[in-house]
Amino acid sequence: MEPYFDDRETLRREERLRIQVEALSRMVEAARRQSTVLRKGFEDLGVNPGDIKTVADFERLPVISRERLVEMELERPPYAGLENPDAEIDRIFISPGPVYEPHLGEEDVLWARAYKAAGLAKGDVVLNAFSYHMVAAGLTFHGGLRKVGATVIPSGASSAQAQVQLIRDLGATAYTGTPSFLMAIIEKAREMGYDFRKDFRVRKACFAAEPLFPAMRERFETEFGIDTYQMYGATEVGDVAYECREKKGWHLCEEVYVEIVDPATGKAVPPGTPGEIVVTRFNDIFYLFRFGTGDLSRIVEEPCPCGRTSYRLAGILGRVGDAVKVRGLFVAPSQLQQVDAKFPEIRKFQIVVGRSGHEDRLNVRIDPAEPSGDFSSLEQAFHKAFREICTVRIDRIEFLKPGTLTDEDRRIVDERSWK
Ligand SMILES: [Zn+2]
Repeated sequence: MEPYFDDRETLRREERLRIQVEALSRMVEAARRQSTVLRKGFEDLGVNPGDIKTVADFERLPVISRERLVEMELERPPYAGLENPDAEIDRIFISPGPVYEPHLGEEDVLWARAYKAAGLAKGDVVLNAFSYHMVAAGLTFHGGLRKVGATVIPSGASSAQAQVQLIRDLGATAYTGTPSFLMAIIEKAREMGYDFRKDFRVRKACFAAEPLFPAMRERFETEFGIDTYQMYGATEVGDVAYECREKKGWHLCEEVYVEIVDPATGKAVPPGTPGEIVVTRFNDIFYLFRFGTGDLSRIVEEPCPCGRTSYRLAGILGRVGDAVKVRGLFVAPSQLQQVDAKFPEIRKFQIVVGRSGHEDRLNVRIDPAEPSGDFSSLEQAFHKAFREICTVRIDRIEFLKPGTLTDEDRRIVDERSWK
């Protein structure tokens, strides 16, 4: 077992839930006292003092999307009236919009759990290539690195060439930033005549703000000897989840309450099925309840061999608008890609969602790589894999003449009309 950041990461699950519901209840109470906007909002919803006793009670509050938050801030600048007027705000971050976010305090452990899980510690010299200019990223990741004792090079948005010089001159042992920028730095180093693996000491990388595609991860790890970790969060709510050394899902941070909901209703989806990630960060500065990230994921409940007891997110399955809901369950494009990867004998497939009476129907049109008289075993295997990955049952599979589906044909077709 690896050392923990603190013993909250190994709390019994019922204990964690009890602590979290209590914290939500306290935050609702504090928001009612401090914010006239929220007091009015709670009154309109009929939420009274002491009402938040369970997770279901909390679901009575609306989910607030990024778009909605921007509107609210424009109506009532700078913080939409969601702030605690008595709080001491040490920094204000600015996102395009403009949207303003108060920093949630120096004592916050933002990103530190993630860096700890990646094994960064005193003695590490970390190149922080997240921008420090106005946005939250640079300084908050910097803070997390300092919390685990690492030395930070605040290289921010410097050019790839400048980053290579810093890595060389300062003996950087790790990188934090986006995966695509690290790849650009490695490429630049090659142009400058260096062998990244042999000439430099960078052995770890912690990524956020961009997906880390498996092929790119493979290159970092095998070709360049860099142990990679993914971190997930949003400017509005800070860090949300991170990978441990098992690299099978992202542990939820202890400072946030995360729900996986149906974006249409704001209510929890069945356990283990995909839905929108909705986050509330426990704090007494900015009372943003139920922030809807627009990202789709699902919860992994199986215990993790690393010893942390928190649930994990199964990565990001896509954006809410790209997924389709079938019989109450979301099917995301990334899940369909996973199915696709299992069947080299299929050139392309398309799912068609329709309606028969009051039931959704899910049909699949398969364009095989080779013509064949008998697709029965392929059909069976496809049914099974689809059910396992997407959790939804297929009603009917149709095999097409090879070459029927073109690049323009969308992967998901929704034929239902919503009146
Ligand atoms: Zn783990």
